Amino acid sequence: MNIQNAYKSVLRKCERCGKYKRGLYNVNGMMICSDCIRKIAFYKVFSEGFKDPSMRGDVITVGLDLGNMTWLNPFAQAWYYPILLWVFYKDYNIKFKVSDLKLKWRYKTPLEQVLKFYIEERIFRIVVEKNEELIVEGDALKEMLDKYGDMPDALDIIGSWISGLIISRVHAEAETPDFRAINAVVDALSKYIDPDGNIKAIPYSKVVGYRCNLCGYLIPSKDEAKKHVSLSHRIPSDEVMNYLREESISIGYLVKLSVIDQSLRKEGIQPERFVERIEKFGVLVHEDPEEPKIVDRDGIRYVVVHPAWFRVLARTRMYERDLIRNRARG
Ligand SMILES: [Zn+2]
Ligand SMILES: [Zn+2]
Repeated sequence: MNIQNAYKSVLRKCERCGKYKRGLYNVNGMMICSDCIRKIAFYKVFSEGFKDPSMRGDVITVGLDLGNMTWLNPFAQAWYYPILLWVFYKDYNIKFKVSDLKLKWRYKTPLEQVLKFYIEERIFRIVVEKNEELIVEGDALKEMLDKYGDMPDALDIIGSWISGLIISRVHAEAETPDFRAINAVVDALSKYIDPDGNIKAIPYSKVVGYRCNLCGYLIPSKDEAKKHVSLSHRIPSDEVMNYLREESISIGYLVKLSVIDQSLRKEGIQPERFVERIEKFGVLVHEDPEEPKIVDRDGIRYVVVHPAWFRVLARTRMYERDLIRNRARG
């Protein structure tokens, strides 16, 4: 047995999660496991995603799902409460005091810890006015309001962005507990993405219409398209299909339900409950109301996962790879 393998086969304690694992990586001077590296990378996508126009929309879409996946979890509610209260106070144009939060705080997670993340993520800032601590918008929240403030669902967008950012931060920190459903989903989908961020899942496409090869016109219905070719271009009806090309767009990626089930069980979650969330809240899946959320192909059930999840996790995989590579250099 060579030394490298012998080293790898030894179980060592991860300095972040405390679990015994084979193969640890040195990240910023700490020996940590690959699961922990993934959580740090996932958070990095959310914290940097907002500044990157190609990621911003995806980070908001996935953030909404993270919110819906954890909404009923009592630990998650502590993390959402400050932003819910902020929205309420903003609606009524009332000053938001730290003492209001303190008075209403009913959660096990200390308010100081929650506020610390909000401040470090530049969502909130605390200013002192007449001996009173006030919570005001931080730079990141201000920027979000500038960009999305004119949209009718601005507060929903901002709420989704904050859920994603805060929940991924909670996952990246060792001292705050993870949400098992999120770990399971990240684990399952990551199996379809290689370390360089290439997506290996099969896209799910939907026919959007028929393109006339003679004039370039795109017609949604097949019958109308046939009519167009025969009437506008005087093509006999038995030849019309030679001039039409079916056009489709990809609305998601196929992920085997059994792969998701396996990851959920590993985290101790009942798969049936998760399927219910897919059906009821549209967690994880594409947003096309005409297309199914779960499909059968050759007797195998697949979840049609929103492409935003794949783009966010492709970026996560790349950050993971970079974190591991940096270890080799240092
Ligand atoms: Zn670990
Ligand atoms: Zn035409």
